[in-house]
Amino acid sequence: MIMEVLIPSSAEEICELLSQDNSRQLLAGGTDFMVEVNYRHRSPSSVIAIDRVPELRNWHHDGDSVVIGSCVTYREIERGPLATLVPALAQAARTVGSPQIRNAGTIGGNIGTASPAGDMIPVLSALGAEVSLRSSEGKREISLDDLIVGVKQTSLGQGEFIESVRVPVLESPQEFLKVGSRSAMVISVTSLALITYPKTQSVGIGLGAVNPRPTRARQAEEFIKDFLNWESMQVDPSGLDHFKELVSEASRPIDDHRSVAAYRRHSIGVLAQRALTRIFSERSPSG
Ligand SMILES: Cc1cc2nc3c(=O)[nH]c(=O)nc-3n(C[C@H](O)[C@H](O)[C@H](O)COP(=O)(O)OP(=O)(O)OC[C@H]3O[C@@H](n4cnc5c(N)ncnc54)[C@H](O)[C@@H]3O)c2cc1C
Repeated sequence: MIMEVLIPSSAEEICELLSQDNSRQLLAGGTDFMVEVNYRHRSPSSVIAIDRVPELRNWHHDGDSVVIGSCVTYREIERGPLATLVPALAQAARTVGSPQIRNAGTIGGNIGTASPAGDMIPVLSALGAEVSLRSSEGKREISLDDLIVGVKQTSLGQGEFIESVRVPVLESPQEFLKVGSRSAMVISVTSLALITYPKTQSVGIGLGAVNPRPTRARQAEEFIKDFLNWESMQVDPSGLDHFKELVSEASRPIDDHRSVAAYRRHSIGVLAQRALTRIFSERSPSG
């Protein structure tokens, strides 16, 4: 099989290449794409290698948010200034694959694959991420939760690609936790991100690997508000059991080769409680 590889040098050029022929497929780090090619689940005749496009490789600080280009790799997210600005994303990035995978794999590729087990997904969901899409028709913004519409399905239009992702910078503690069959180099059995929002005295909880599309545990987020003390950063432990139940109830997991639904439903609740009590210490009965 002959595969044409096109190497654009700007986002504008990607738009042109896609508008000329919509059967062309985007290749970023290739860590998902090439696995599919090797297993013959995908046999593209023309590929656009986007990972050298400067606009997509960069990130910048923009007021209260960070705009991360789609081809920023896990390696860049897991350390340095980005890790300070969005620590939960860095925590998640550190759990992805091996150093080789993290050097090549990108945030845009994780969204493009739209796997329920993608480790960027729960963090971006809990952060309320806005994704910037681009095509020869122009640009549009969409929330991550609306972009991913099912297992490995996005609402990207023809000729459209992910240009960048906008997330708020750290206001107060964030946490990402993952359960896998071992502690390194594994795809998540379940994962969870918990982001604190002190201005609204609320938390955002993104669930990973337990639903076909990005999911926030909205009822649990609402319920736990009354049990949090933002001055002392303590949680009233009497709310924890129901909080855990509500998080589990927000999941619709499946049985597969990595785990069974019952374990996923249980472990997502445990992760939620653990993440919460890492940030808010449990108030003792006396006070
Ligand atoms: C050994 C191994 C371990 C792994 N471990 C993990 C793990 O622990 N956690 C995890 O989440 N993932 C893991 N992965 C999966 C993979 O590394 C990630 O999903 C990665 O983020 C994919 O990014 P990429 O740049 O390699 O994307 P690619 O493979 O290049 O592309 C993936 C898909 O996204 C599309 N795409 C890429 N960029 C864009 C864009 N800008 N706009 C629109 N569509 C786009 C492509 O067309 C393709 O369909 C692992 C993979 C391997 C091989």
